[in-house]
Amino acid sequence: MAREIRLQIKPDNCRACRRCLASDVCKVRAIVRIDSDEPPFLDAARCYDCRLCIPACPFEAIRVTGDFLPSVKTIC
Ligand code: SF4
Ligand code: SF4
Repeated sequence: MAREIRLQIKPDNCRACRRCLASDVCKVRAIVRIDSDEPPFLDAARCYDCRLCIPACPFEAIRVTGDFLPSVKTIC
């Protein structure tokens, strides 16, 4: 069964940093950049939702989609 990855990189927040600190912490290289002038994208096939990249981005460009509350709740 496919996993649901709810992270996204917000293009409005992303500064397309020369060195992407969020990408640096991703152990599976799920934050991918094709063009150095463009924001990276998140490869959902690689991402395992560890969320280490969220605090690593200094511009809060990586968000959990659909979360409007400060705490993340899991509904089973
Ligand atoms: S995701 Fe964050 S660290 Fe990476 S390029 Fe965008 S703003 Fe910079
Ligand atoms: S949640 Fe984890 S695996 Fe997914 S992009 Fe962020 S650091 Fe990589």
